[in-house]
This record gives sequence, C-alpha cells and structure tokens, in this order.
Amino acid sequence: MPEKNQVYTAEITGLTSEGSGVCRIDGMAVFVPQTAVGDICGVKIVKVLKSYAFGKAEEILTPSPDRIEDNCPVYKKCGGCLLRHISYEAECRTKEGIVRDAFERIGGLFPEFDEFIGAESTERYRNKAQYPLAVRDGRAVCGFYAPRSHRVIPVEDCALQPEIFSDILQTVLDYINVKKLSVYSEETNTGIIRHIYLRRGAHSGQIMVCIVVRKDISRQLSALCRLLSEKYSDINSIIMNINPDNTNVILGDRCITLWGSDTISDTMCGNNVEISPLSFYQVNTVQAERLYAKALEYAAPGSSETIADLYCGAGTIGLSMAKQAAKIVGVEIIPQAVENAKENALRNGITNAEFHCGDAGEVFGKLRRQGCKPDIIVVDPPRKGCSSETVDIISEAAPKKIVMISCNPATAARDAKLLSERGYSVDKVCGVDLFPRTGHVECVVLLSRQKS
Ligand code: SAH
Repeated sequence: MPEKNQVYTAEITGLTSEGSGVCRIDGMAVFVPQTAVGDICGVKIVKVLKSYAFGKAEEILTPSPDRIEDNCPVYKKCGGCLLRHISYEAECRTKEGIVRDAFERIGGLFPEFDEFIGAESTERYRNKAQYPLAVRDGRAVCGFYAPRSHRVIPVEDCALQPEIFSDILQTVLDYINVKKLSVYSEETNTGIIRHIYLRRGAHSGQIMVCIVVRKDISRQLSALCRLLSEKYSDINSIIMNINPDNTNVILGDRCITLWGSDTISDTMCGNNVEISPLSFYQVNTVQAERLYAKALEYAAPGSSETIADLYCGAGTIGLSMAKQAAKIVGVEIIPQAVENAKENALRNGITNAEFHCGDAGEVFGKLRRQGCKPDIIVVDPPRKGCSSETVDIISEAAPKKIVMISCNPATAARDAKLLSERGYSVDKVCGVDLFPRTGHVECVVLLSRQKS
C-alpha cells in the first residue's frame, strides 16, 4: 500500500471521467489531477483510502506526448476546465473511452459505438456563463469556483466564453464598485448581488444580462441598464432574478425584466427559438445541432409516427423532428420553458406539437392513460438520469424506439441497462463533445423494442 507523504515514480495509464490521471502504486489505484496518459511522474501521496488513494504530481519526469501548453492563466486554480493540458485529439480519445467504459462496465452493454463527434471550436464556444461574485480587498470581483469548493477564483477572460462577456462583466463590476452595491456571501447569507449570468445566441448574437440578487434592487440597477443598453447594441434583454434562499442553486423562481425583452432568440436546427432565463438551453449551440441531428438519425421517424419528447426544455429537440413526424408531445417541469416551447412551435409554424408541464414520468403516465401512444420516445434528463419509476413508465408505453440523450454517460448506461432488462436492446451509442476542455461529455443512445 502506498504511504502518505511518500513520493513514488509512476506512469499515468488512464484518465477518469473527473479528468484526473490514474496510476498504480503498490497495487493500488492512485488518482493524480492534471496529469496525462503516458506521463511518468513523481507522485506524492496526499490521502490513502481503503481501495484507492490520491496523489499530487510533484515532478513530471517524462511528459506524455499528449501534453500541450494549457494557455490559461487560471487553469490550475479554476474548476471549469480539466483537460487544457492535453491535445484536443487526446481529449476526444479520452472522452470516447469514458462513454464506452460507462456502457461496458456500468451497463454491461456492448452496443455499436458510432464515431465520436468532436468539436471544431474548442474555445469561445459557450453561449452562457454564470459568474459568482466575491469581495477581495474591499472590491467586488467575479469568476468561477475552485474545484470542489465555492471559493471564487477571479477570471478576467475565460477562453470558453465569447470575448464580449468579459467586457460586459467588467462594466457590471465597475458599476457595482462605484455604486458600492453589496455582494452576497454564501457563508453568512448576507449581501445582495449573487451572480452575473450572461447568455448570447450563437447565431443571433442577441445578449441577455441577468443579475441574480437576494432581494429586489431594481432602483439601484436602473442606471446600469441605461449604461449597458447604450454601450452594447447586442444586449436586448436585462433581467433581475431574485433568489432569496440560503442555497447553492444559482437562480430563484422570480424574474423581473428591467430593460428590453423577457427572452432572447436564437436559431437551433433551423428553427427560430425563444429562450427565457430559467429555460435550459444547450450551452454549445453548434455541437448541440450535431447532437440533435444524430438523435434524429437514430429516431428516423416515419411521417405517421408520434414522438414523445420527455425533459423537453424549450422544445428544441422535438421541434427539430416535427417536420418528419405526425405529432410531437413534449413534457418539461419548468413552466417558463414550456411557455417557450409552445411559443417556439407557433413562431415556426409547427402545428403538430403540444407541450405539457410537470414531472416527465407523472405527466407522461397520465397522457398514456388518456390514450397517447408514441412510436418513439426521446428522453433527455438532467445529470442524475431518469427515476426508476420513469424508466418503468417509458418501458410500459412500449415505444418501438427510445432515443436517450444524456450529459452523464454513467446514468445513461444505468438507465439503458434498466431498459435492456425491460425488453429493449441497446443498439447504438454516440459520444458528442459539447464541452471541449472540460471533463464533461454528452452521449446519445438508440434502443429498440425486442418484444411487445
Ligand atoms: N431537451 C432539452 C432540455 C434538456 S435538459 C434540450 O435539449 O434543450 C433537461 C431538462 O429536464 C431541463 O429542461 C429540466 O428543467 C428538465 N427536468 C428536470 N427534471 C425534470 C422532471 N422530473 N420532469 C420533467 N422535466 C424535468
């Protein structure tokens, strides 16, 4: 067993889904952050648990051929990116392996794996950023959290975000500092301004600025609205979101439009879509379009078929399939997103889509009892995956095909396994990189019914 504080020479042989390198020391797996497969390094053991340990790379003796310059002044401190120190080719290889491993090891499933869809742009690809605020030396700063903590690492310009976000951020921070507006502290649950949340339509260029506060300070923000709207012609919406709770959830339920429109619009798979601050919208539009195209290829709906789009958000997936199918039935839990979905159908002349608000399993179960019988079910749940009740309801509906989309291959594999025990075969899986340079990876899965 490796000993705490001892330094061992070891070769990194794998990368975990958390982006950490893995090596074996005295027969035990040791996780070493910010290393690359092929690195030979001096590893200092920092913590030993029952069956694994954590180490720190004290020295890289022979660097891996995958290594590159990380190109970011805060990479080693910020919790956002995990893979900036390896080439993008190595990153895709790693992520493809993470998806495959999840299905083979967690799911015990051996589907066909389609070619991994890597991204053309690995910088400036995000359309959304949520910056927490903190006070340093008496001034408001903002940035991102350090790994596994809520300590704010100030970031001047994040390479994953549009450049204009840094400029807008600086304008907002200067305003907060000049006006001496108070900054929220999670520790004491005091102060007012919690987060600055920006969104920009990748195709439209429209920008939303959302200031997340603990209580209504619209009067103190009116001059900021004037300043922002005059300085940035692409800003078309300024919102104040009120989150009074002592919580690490970023957004509260209440949004007040301070200036301009309640939403921004963008184009997604050729549809013009409108997005509220509370609605989910994939952060990498270009890659999301490729993901949805893959989902459509897997669904391959016939013109007389009905598609249920569960966890539909603002309706983007279902609407991208509406022309090929007879009917789309979407279910989503956030009311504002359901409103967006309905509006998005209307503004694109899509008349064969309906959207319902509530828990995916509950509402879909009710629709089924009322006679809804989809030929294809698309599910796109949050990271935690579907609940087992929802998996049951989906399999009881016995659609011909299920297309599962997930930002967490581990829960996707778990849910696919449950469905494989309920009469479905897991035919194909495709990994798609929506989050270059970070540890995250998306996947899409095709399942088909084996028996009725
Ligand atoms: N398919 C959409 C959204 C996917 S994100 C898109 O591609 O844009 C997952 C969505 O599930 C979010 O919109 C979230 O609000 C919603 N959600 C979370 N829990 C839910 C539940 N229990 N029932 C229905 N929707 C839920």
